[in-house]
Amino acid sequence: MSDIYGYMGKILWVDLTKKELKEEKPDEEIYRKYLGGYGLGVYYIYSRLKPKCDPLGPDNIIGFCPGLMTGNAAPFTGRYMVCGKSPLTGKGPLEDGSKGTGGWGDANSGGYFSPAIKRAGYDAIFITGSSDKPVYLYIDDERKELIDADNIWGKNFKEADKILKEKHGKICKTAMIGVGGENQVLVSGIVNDDGRIAARSGLGAVLGAKKFKCICLKGKKRTVIKDKEKAKELSKSYNKQLRKKLNDKLIKIILKQASNFTGLMRTINIPLSIAGKITSIGTKLFPNFLREYGTTWFTDICLGLGDSPVKNFKGSIKDFPQKKSKNFTYDRIEEYKEKRYGCYSCPVQCGAILDGSQFGLAETHRPEYETIQAFGSLVMNEDLEVIIKVNEYLNMTGVDSISAGGIVAYTLECVENGLLKKEDFKCEEYPDGFLPTWEHSENILPLLKIIVNREGIGDVLANGVKEASKHIPNSEQFAINANGQELPLHDQRLMQGLGLSYLTDPTPGRHTAAGTEFMSMGPINAFVKGLDVSASKKPQKLAKNQARIAKFAQAFNAMGLCIFSAWCGHYPLFEFMDAFFGWTMDLDEFLEIGWRIQTLRQMFNAREGAIRHEVSKRAIGDPPLTEGPLKKVSLDLEEKAQLYYDSIGFTKTGIPKKDTLNRLNLKFCVKDLNDAIGRPEPLVNEYLESKD
Ligand code: SF4
Repeated sequence: MSDIYGYMGKILWVDLTKKELKEEKPDEEIYRKYLGGYGLGVYYIYSRLKPKCDPLGPDNIIGFCPGLMTGNAAPFTGRYMVCGKSPLTGKGPLEDGSKGTGGWGDANSGGYFSPAIKRAGYDAIFITGSSDKPVYLYIDDERKELIDADNIWGKNFKEADKILKEKHGKICKTAMIGVGGENQVLVSGIVNDDGRIAARSGLGAVLGAKKFKCICLKGKKRTVIKDKEKAKELSKSYNKQLRKKLNDKLIKIILKQASNFTGLMRTINIPLSIAGKITSIGTKLFPNFLREYGTTWFTDICLGLGDSPVKNFKGSIKDFPQKKSKNFTYDRIEEYKEKRYGCYSCPVQCGAILDGSQFGLAETHRPEYETIQAFGSLVMNEDLEVIIKVNEYLNMTGVDSISAGGIVAYTLECVENGLLKKEDFKCEEYPDGFLPTWEHSENILPLLKIIVNREGIGDVLANGVKEASKHIPNSEQFAINANGQELPLHDQRLMQGLGLSYLTDPTPGRHTAAGTEFMSMGPINAFVKGLDVSASKKPQKLAKNQARIAKFAQAFNAMGLCIFSAWCGHYPLFEFMDAFFGWTMDLDEFLEIGWRIQTLRQMFNAREGAIRHEVSKRAIGDPPLTEGPLKKVSLDLEEKAQLYYDSIGFTKTGIPKKDTLNRLNLKFCVKDLNDAIGRPEPLVNEYLESKD
């Protein structure tokens, strides 16, 4: 009889320097306190990482951490998280004149790699040290070993994946860096399933520096479930209600009207929360929209609302009206759809494979909302072909499309202002250079290529906009970022809760870190009874709700749940926990776990001197836009940030309080409080002065 239910009970440590693989068996208490995913990841990385280490050096640790529920076939539980110290965020001068060396980084991906980690027998795999030559990790039921990766180094995802499948068999699952990570492009991630990518925080560059190409898995192990029948019954009844399909024609009519409705919302200023309520009618519309069109269904709507930033955050819908994006609305992209697909155990299956032949490609993933707008309104491009090709290129080279879009927009503005010239863009393919401009979207792909290959000015741009702006004089105002991370395609000037989360979350500039309005756009409170959060413009309430949603989001992610499940109605979360693990848990305990994870992520940053408060002025409406739905909007997040910190038990400079650490059983962090560095006051003062 097993006494471990619902998870594997083992983690694997891979030391690349010593070429050593060691298993460890965490106590059940660790799982109960941190769950899985980056909860488990931050516990081990915080405990074992050498503080202030170089993120691109051998002391950094990268965790591949599937959600705790992954592997048990519960709906929507196919996510895994890559985590470690980010080379992109949390750098900069500190109060004492020294430099922060990088902050907490994590990234999240779906597909089938997450359950493959469980089937290999592990709840997490941690990579430490660094290799002197390219290697990959292979695990099946008989062996686990590091293998020479010379034959796949320099190859893009599909090429390398094919070679590995020829060698190890078709059923193996891989997650790997592309050429972007190999070249230590600081906005690179880890790719799996032909184009799913754990993109944010630049963790692909860390693996590239370690000369670690890939994890290739072919295990057949299974979790032992405490109450299999109950788990089966829960999944069956949840999936049944979610798979009820609405009529296709009705969906099309609703989406068409929704797009028109954004015009009305702008004209008579209807609050966003009303739009959210409409979308959440009976919680049936959202899964149906998603199933049919993936995240492309809201591209046009977000543009209409002012949610999609235009022209590097300086434009509005007047500069890029909805008719300009007519080539990449959901129904237009639909014309290329070959088949649907989705992640492990997902009842919605929101992905799609497109026929890329018209664009000179084979099969290719349908681009997601973020990529479409990053290479649409943000860079003023109207051409779908550019978006499809860019999407494929970034997926294959393993580069974050949100950050890449931000870098392209920054570069175009540098060119517009005469800071970069044609000769700066000389490269092997264009020996005389080329000139990327707002008007010439055909130059976007060549620009991305010089970034990924670190050619010419691409070598500077590959470090992200914040670092690049230190090398290109007078360009700082064009470098739109939060604490080093390029901003997502959801505008905080529309949703100030998002702004608060962009500013204060340990992984800055992340829409999935859960802002209150963002999460309240769907029926979040239906997910579990008693959650009770809502958007509010009142600072105190906003801060309180932000703290509550941040706690919820951490535990939710650590379970391996897909963010979209939060908007699909009631989820029998605690019933599943009982059935899988034999755990009796309620919302209070769940939120306390989330609070612990958030606090430990924040302590990581405090110890590294990486709690910053830097967000580009333009992105918070300084100066405000003069046209469009966000006209005259200017955010002052300072008071709200302090209220949020207070609500979650941190000091006003963002350091977790000793009482908070004690209450959350994080006593092992108390010794680090002496060295913890919060957000530097001078920067805040500078910001406030500039507002006067
Ligand atoms: S909704 Fe989409 S992203 Fe989420 S689990 Fe399903 S297929 Fe994956």
